[in-house]
Amino acid sequence: MIDVHVHLAALPTKANGCLLSKDMLGGALAKLVAWHQGLPLDEPERANAIFVDRVIEKMKASTRVEKGVLLALDGIYGDDGRLDEARTHMLISNDAMFDACARSGGRLLPGASINPARRDALDELERCAARGAVLIKVLPNAQVFDPAAKRFTAFYRALARHKIPLLSHIGVEYSVKARDQAVGNPERLERALKEGATVIAAHACSSGHVISQPHVETMVRLVREQPRFFMDASALTLPNRVGIARHLRRHPETFERLLFGSDYPLPVLWPGSNPFDRHAAALEALGVRCGADAKSVLRL
Ligand SMILES: [Zn+2]
Repeated sequence: MIDVHVHLAALPTKANGCLLSKDMLGGALAKLVAWHQGLPLDEPERANAIFVDRVIEKMKASTRVEKGVLLALDGIYGDDGRLDEARTHMLISNDAMFDACARSGGRLLPGASINPARRDALDELERCAARGAVLIKVLPNAQVFDPAAKRFTAFYRALARHKIPLLSHIGVEYSVKARDQAVGNPERLERALKEGATVIAAHACSSGHVISQPHVETMVRLVREQPRFFMDASALTLPNRVGIARHLRRHPETFERLLFGSDYPLPVLWPGSNPFDRHAAALEALGVRCGADAKSVLRL
């Protein structure tokens, strides 16, 4: 299997183009990941190398997952289309991601991140496409843009032309500080679909709330109407995402559009076993089947 949702974590160094706010670095998530993985936060280069080595190691040891799409994370851009460093809590640069993939022996596939609101979005897309990006990941809630905005039409058409899917976060976001949770609605992705892009809605359209799953109707409709609409199963084993499983089971046609994804290294408190295998087994136990073919969706 291919895991379409593997996060790269990286501390900023002089050369890697990454950013991490003091809030994030001092926050519970960073501490938990660092503690769990034994990363030396005061030695960024070494911590970054350990993180990547460990992903590769765990993937090699997995009996289920052969390759993973490693995701960068773009930042927040101002009205002038320039990076707003002061408001960006976390930025994992495309170059750091490409470097990590380059030393993975083909196990990690490049998942670039481009905020379509940046003024060089189309140029960056050309650059990432030329370097072999298999998808573009966005997190509208934290990157502060509305995927439905008309001004992104050219960006979506370019994705369609390159046949590079857009992987977008769905639901509320807790890991990276979010500014606008409303943009995590899958309805906002219809513009990209309309312009011909392939779309992968993360977390199987779950809301991120423990009780309510308001996106089920939209999910079922998009599966019915849009042959280029897919989802991933990342983070579905978290308590605030697992509620979507019974809706997927009730609409088995959605399984044909579901790609395997873990959201590694989240959840951070994986029990001792292999995190990729553990996620695959948990999905099976939930009766959730990832029936979409990642190789054809990612055009590998
Ligand atoms: Zn994720």
